Amino acid sequence: MAPKYELHPERKYSIAIVGGGIGGLCTAIGLLHQGVPVHIYEAAPAFAEIGAGVSLGPNAARAMKLIDSKIYDGFCRCRTNNSWPDRQHYWFSFRKGEDTSSKFGTRFYDMWCETGQSSVHRARFLDELVALVPSEIAHFGKRLESVQDKGDKVIIRFGDGTSAEHSALIGCDGIKSKVRIALFGNDHPAAHAVFTGKYAYRGLIPMEEAAKLMGDELARNSQMYLGHGGHILTFPIEQGKTMNVVAFGTKEDGKWEDPEWVKPLDRAQMEKDYEGWVEATRQILSLMQKPDMWALFNHPPTPTYFKNRVCILGDAAHASGPHNGAGASQAIEDALIMSRVMARVFNAADVPRAFAAYDRVRRPRSQYQVKMAYEGGLLYDLQLPGYMDDWDKVKELLSTKQHWIWNHDLEADIREVERIFAEETARL
Ligand SMILES: Cc1cc2nc3c(=O)[nH]c(=O)nc-3n(C[C@H](O)[C@H](O)[C@H](O)COP(=O)(O)OP(=O)(O)OC[C@H]3O[C@@H](n4cnc5c(N)ncnc54)[C@H](O)[C@@H]3O)c2cc1C
Repeated sequence: MAPKYELHPERKYSIAIVGGGIGGLCTAIGLLHQGVPVHIYEAAPAFAEIGAGVSLGPNAARAMKLIDSKIYDGFCRCRTNNSWPDRQHYWFSFRKGEDTSSKFGTRFYDMWCETGQSSVHRARFLDELVALVPSEIAHFGKRLESVQDKGDKVIIRFGDGTSAEHSALIGCDGIKSKVRIALFGNDHPAAHAVFTGKYAYRGLIPMEEAAKLMGDELARNSQMYLGHGGHILTFPIEQGKTMNVVAFGTKEDGKWEDPEWVKPLDRAQMEKDYEGWVEATRQILSLMQKPDMWALFNHPPTPTYFKNRVCILGDAAHASGPHNGAGASQAIEDALIMSRVMARVFNAADVPRAFAAYDRVRRPRSQYQVKMAYEGGLLYDLQLPGYMDDWDKVKELLSTKQHWIWNHDLEADIREVERIFAEETARL
């Protein structure tokens, strides 16, 4: 049963969250933890995640603790790190994927951080979050169709013909966000995500099979194999029972015209993409179970994340390519800042000022993440101008690449959002 939250009796407003992914649920938990009344509207018949592993860095872990330590406890229950004790703090061991002088690709750099490669099975982590959400605030089968901001309230209408009225709306409805479109209009150049030119084959391998073929070191510890036009990463999930595989490639014409972004795998095409790569990578591809292919899209930057009483958060605001392993962690940081600023709001009329403060703190960092994730994809595919396949330069960039994400001072962000809100309130 979900914990009991004490809603502040003076708060006479309610917030609607549309979308119950990692972003929406962390925001709901954060708001409840601060005593803010909230309802979640989810399109699916139940909370669910697609895809397998998601890697969460030290900034995500700190944000969880600051939102509600129970989120962090849940994360600790389901996270998986590298198996070898001396690899616990490694994020990835980087290897030259096409360097066939070694069967495993020469290991040329180990990137490490406080939490190491700390990944969760998406559905397991979501279960931990769901356990913190009271069932009476969750509404399923509610696919948002339209948003009407009436100035002093927001009316949201769903595909099943029902509607709801709340003081404000936070759109956490992912990369194809309807709330984003409602904010900017369908024809705005930043309303829709654009193709990054990259795609990913994703699949799982039972760990015992992977270890038998590739050996313990490669199978049980996170690895990234870089090559021209692609890279392949592997890391253990589900307490080491499964190896998660994501193999990235480049669409030469840079176009994705298919309305579907996730396609069944064309195994022959996948094998062709990595022809001539080291034996370890071919072994990985041959073992991948239930693989599928994902076209990778990201969002052009918007000039704001809010208008009046409607705001966007997580992938709805700043969907990025996955090359920093940071999309979900940015959604969790958003949830932290949103919940801390909303903790200061007692009247519905103050919500737009809180959204404005959230926007000022979160937009620059999260939009920069989108840009850097795009560049990260080029770096790993040996296509980044100025670096290409100059291994010394690639290694040098790797040595600092993730620092601004992982070492960010979230407590300073909290102070900043509170300061902005207080200053803007004092100006009235
Ligand atoms: C291949 C790949 C690998 C990735 N790896 C990582 C990683 O290792 N680390 C990391 O941090 N990030 C990673 N990411 C990014 C990460 O998955 C996302 O940033 C994160 O899941 C976003 O969470 P969210 O809650 O904002 O959106 P979502 O998870 O998309 O959730 C949106 C929710 O809204 C619901 N919804 C959608 N439309 C409506 C509607 N109209 N009405 C009501 N509900 C609606 C959906 O059903 C869903 O529940 C990866 C992404 C990809 C594609």
